[in-house]
Amino acid sequence: MNTAQLIADNLARVHERIADAAHSVGRSPDEVQLVAVSKYVGVAETAALLAAGCPILGESRPQQLWDKAAEPTLAGAQWHLIGHLQRNKVRRTVAVADLIHSVDSLRLLETINECAAELNRPTRVLLEVNCSGDAAKHGLSAEELRRILPEFPRLEHVTVCGLMTMAALEGGETVAATNFASLRELRDAVQPECPPGVTLSELSMGMSHDFEAAIREGATLVRVGSLLF
Ligand SMILES: *Cc1c(COP(=O)(O)O)cnc(C)c1O
Repeated sequence: MNTAQLIADNLARVHERIADAAHSVGRSPDEVQLVAVSKYVGVAETAALLAAGCPILGESRPQQLWDKAAEPTLAGAQWHLIGHLQRNKVRRTVAVADLIHSVDSLRLLETINECAAELNRPTRVLLEVNCSGDAAKHGLSAEELRRILPEFPRLEHVTVCGLMTMAALEGGETVAATNFASLRELRDAVQPECPPGVTLSELSMGMSHDFEAAIREGATLVRVGSLLF
């Protein structure tokens, strides 16, 4: 079997598993978008994903995102940045990204707002929350999230659409499910405290080894890489 066929088959299998997980908790599979994480592969394999019907592609390194977004053979993809973003890389990322999942400070949010204004490109973002308590992980604490909520209305060129988290590396699906439930509960708790017009509808959580648990806990975006290749 050639690589493109293998990728298409893997993609179909992931879509099936997404649908099964959604149905198991009475959700519609349409509520869950697959972000195919293409960071492991080159342009040809990424093009195979796109051709197989997966328009949303995720990269964790800004430079790789810029390079692939400039590839003519990948035209039509929607690029999501899922990894850490440094402020000196914001401008070029805002220029091409459809959604930035990994905003973990007010300063970064302000820089994104400035670049979005200059480029006249309104930008959608998620705020990354550290739900696992793992000190090595990026992400805001619940208190930090609450502290920056009132700032959103003055950042007119950014739309905060929801929250993102990474589950703890240790502990398997059970611990991951607890982390995902924490993100949903945090969202439900802070939503009423949000300024008017701010709706945290998106929850980006779940990767290859735990996306089904994430869907059961309310994920609207799952970021799946290894399973596809
Ligand atoms: C690499 C990566 C993924 C995909 O992980 P897999 O286990 O390969 O599915 C998801 N989210 C982030 C933030 C990543 O860096």
